[in-house]
Amino acid sequence: MWFLNCEKKSNGLFFFIFVTFIPILAITAMFSYAYFHIKTTEVVFTTEEIEGLRIIAHIKKTVFDIQKIRGLSGIKNPDQMCIDNIEALKETISNDLKELEEELLFYQVTPQHFLEKNESLKFINSANNNSLENRSFEYFSQIIDELMMLSSHIAYQYKLVLDSDLNSYILINNVVYLLPELIEHNAQIRAIASSMENGALISGQKQHIIMQLHKIKEKLHMLDYNFFQLHKSSDNSKIKIVYDTILEAQNSIINFANEELLGSKSTTIKPNGIFALTTKNIDLIIGLYDANLDILNENLEKRLYESEKFSVYIILSGVASVLFIIFINIIFYAKNRKFIHKVEELTITDSMTSLYNRRYFDEVFENNLKIQQRAKQTLMFIMLDIDFFKLYNDTYGHHAGDLAIKTVAKNLKNSLKRAGDMAFRLGGEEFGILCIGMNSSEALSFANGIREKVESEKIEHTKNSASKYLTISMGLVVIEPDFINNVNDLYKQDDEALYKAKESGRNLVVVYGS
Ligand code: GH3
Ligand code: MG
Ligand code: MG
Repeated sequence: MWFLNCEKKSNGLFFFIFVTFIPILAITAMFSYAYFHIKTTEVVFTTEEIEGLRIIAHIKKTVFDIQKIRGLSGIKNPDQMCIDNIEALKETISNDLKELEEELLFYQVTPQHFLEKNESLKFINSANNNSLENRSFEYFSQIIDELMMLSSHIAYQYKLVLDSDLNSYILINNVVYLLPELIEHNAQIRAIASSMENGALISGQKQHIIMQLHKIKEKLHMLDYNFFQLHKSSDNSKIKIVYDTILEAQNSIINFANEELLGSKSTTIKPNGIFALTTKNIDLIIGLYDANLDILNENLEKRLYESEKFSVYIILSGVASVLFIIFINIIFYAKNRKFIHKVEELTITDSMTSLYNRRYFDEVFENNLKIQQRAKQTLMFIMLDIDFFKLYNDTYGHHAGDLAIKTVAKNLKNSLKRAGDMAFRLGGEEFGILCIGMNSSEALSFANGIREKVESEKIEHTKNSASKYLTISMGLVVIEPDFINNVNDLYKQDDEALYKAKESGRNLVVVYGS
């Protein structure tokens, strides 16, 4: 029995592993794809954007300082505060440029951009090494242009301009282009106005200021449109409030330019005063730039966090799905196994007596014989038959006959002691018993024990010439290990012994060959 079960179990397990493995493989592939997709598109993309934005913010801060020093350097009769400011700015810019240079050396460039980057580095290097003192408006403007170009290049390189989210795209556009350009137009007006001699502009300077005012108007229209497009959220409404306040600052610069600089009367304000006045308003516009930058950074960080969280959820859902599949399959497997066992049991047992049936006897007999020979143990085979059972049926009826068969079966079952011992209903009122490991005398007393037990049930059988009660006759064969046998011979031998028991008066055990 155990070897049969073993074979069935391993087949079932293999099938179970096979049917479980396929969906697990599919689920793992699906979730891995989703995970790597999120990782590469969202996480890597946003991480790059945040990195690029950090470099751009650094460049812009340097630009704002260079714009200031450009304005201060143009003042003809600088006061002490102006001189101190220049000194402080020189140091700040020099540090900024050094840091920027280091940052750009780490900056991953693709071959086609290498030249541009090298140019930028060379320029920054020269700007840093040469003294920033007594430099012309054009010189500073050139550095500013170069840095603005560099930041625009980084916006491409770090894919900021490719952001598909409209809100982020607008904020990136503001931070990289619109606001720095607006600040630069205002800073140019500041620089020109601060460098006026005798409170009046020469005609070239007037033209330049008119051009800058025109550009300011253009940038304000674009900003208006951008802020209008921004989604309504608490963060965005914060920038909109800042935008409204900078409009006031911007208007004061425009009014000052129109009335004081471009008007017919020359201004009474001193260059130092002009610088302070315009700087106050430019700083307010820089405030809008800072607010924009902060919100953009927050948005990107939030998106990065969400994407990373999402990728963790994908892994967890993948693991949960795989565990679920395993769990469901284990349940199916366990249930199926129960059914298989039930069917197996039904096909090998006799429904009336619950003993093993003839079919199973045929299946097991040969195997038991092989085991017995391999294990070098004795095998005992008993065949037994109820005496005068036809007469019993005739006397007491078929139903009483059935009950008698059940009683005999119960006695056989109760007599079995070892796990490997088996009792069979071979057909009608005939039974068989197989036991391994009993010697001849043990087997004989075992058989007689059963015979006595059946008789002691005291089932009345008046037509039985061997006893007052229902009895059985038994044929016994004890097979020694070294004695090669085949099933048919053994069956015949036992049948012969049983026949002899019937012949010799019934209610007897006859050992084959005795
Ligand atoms: P012997 O002592 O020589 O074995 O005599 P016997 O009458 O038992 O011999 P035989 O084998 O000719 O008779 C067996 C009878 O058992 C015939 C049949 O009616 C009866 N029988 C077989 N199966 C069943 C069963 O399931 N229920 C009942 N009630 N009777 C059965
Ligand atoms: Mg019979
Ligand atoms: Mg009989």
